[in-house]
Amino acid sequence: MYYYSLNREAPGSDFREAVISGQARDKGLYFPAALPRLPEAWIKTIETRSDIAIGIDIMRPYTEHALPEKILQRIIEETLSFPMPLIPLSENIFSMELFHGPTQAFKDIGARFMSGCLGYFLRGAKQKAIVLTATSGDTGGAVAHAFHNVPGIEVVILYPSRKISTVQEAQITGPGGNINALAIEGTFDDCQALVKQAFADEALRQKRILTSANSINIARWLPQQIYYFLAWKQWPEKQAPPLISVPSGNFGNISAGVLAHLSGLPAEGFIAACNANAAVPDYLASGHYQTGPVKHTLSSAMDVSAPNNFVRLLALYHNQYSGLKDVVSGYSISDDQTRNAIKQAYNRYDYLLDPHGAVGFAALEKAQELQIGRKGLFLETAHPAKFLSARPEEEQAGNYIAMDKTYKAFKHYLLENLG
Ligand SMILES: *Cc1c(COP(=O)(O)O)cnc(C)c1O
Repeated sequence: MYYYSLNREAPGSDFREAVISGQARDKGLYFPAALPRLPEAWIKTIETRSDIAIGIDIMRPYTEHALPEKILQRIIEETLSFPMPLIPLSENIFSMELFHGPTQAFKDIGARFMSGCLGYFLRGAKQKAIVLTATSGDTGGAVAHAFHNVPGIEVVILYPSRKISTVQEAQITGPGGNINALAIEGTFDDCQALVKQAFADEALRQKRILTSANSINIARWLPQQIYYFLAWKQWPEKQAPPLISVPSGNFGNISAGVLAHLSGLPAEGFIAACNANAAVPDYLASGHYQTGPVKHTLSSAMDVSAPNNFVRLLALYHNQYSGLKDVVSGYSISDDQTRNAIKQAYNRYDYLLDPHGAVGFAALEKAQELQIGRKGLFLETAHPAKFLSARPEEEQAGNYIAMDKTYKAFKHYLLENLG
């Protein structure tokens, strides 16, 4: 497969180059030049296939020529090494649980696929590659776990000191070894700015091989399609495809689902389930795209004001508002509605939601008010226990280095401690 930049000002790349560089040289997101189409017979007989075989069939067209079949199989086996059950809450509402991986959030799936690809591409390289990742919480843990002990790779994770949950921090600082955790005195935006500055620093890039594991990398984006097909495999009523509600922040997850749909996944429609950061639901309602300052909510992993992957969602419909809004609807769910959804699901269905899944659940119920009797599923993107703990005041144990938010300190660290 060939990938072009959505900014269309850089040359295209093959899978290998697109994964290693993360982003095209014109800072555009990579996008597949053709959308694979799964045969109807394949979709009809999906229940006869193993999860691994489904994953391989979905990813093969994207990785062809870059990953030999045996390597792809090994990577898929590592990616799908935990269960993803579809749990009925009621006759019409199902929860697709994506939190049974090692760091209890769906980001494990993309991070594990990507670490498998990078580990393979960089095998035998003379110099270690440095994977830089800024995180507001969940990405850091998933990347730390997925890349731990991968030869040839040092990982540097920057997180805002004391602004992530204790569970999240333990997942980042716990592994040690090739996982280097930097607690930055600042915000997530400060962390992201440091990473961006490092990528723009030509003098640094002469001396160190830098790559990134952020969510726009195609090796994290594309494999997310797999669990939509695994949900379909478990869907009980094949003659009535589901409404699919996706708790959304950066819009990588839902755009992967819509990509899967265009490749043959049956779905009645998609729901962009957002918290108070509602740029996309507002766009879907009005046709006008406008972003404002970020709002902090209970579903913190979705506190994104300008979603990176929105351009991919648009590109899937050739940048046509009318095509997109026929398939995707949007809802903005307040913190009060989120709390209420957690209460309702617990009281009515004896089911404990996390705040992100709760946004998906609440948006699905709203959509079902307009489509009475239509069955749907929401993606439960994190384990409820991951977000319950309040942050204690004392410092945490673990392997991390506290650092101020200056680029000078960060660059010094990269040059003196790694490589
Ligand atoms: C990252 C994250 C999301 C948002 O996913 P996007 O692909 O960025 O839209 C939702 N829920 C949880 C728990 C997350 O960690």
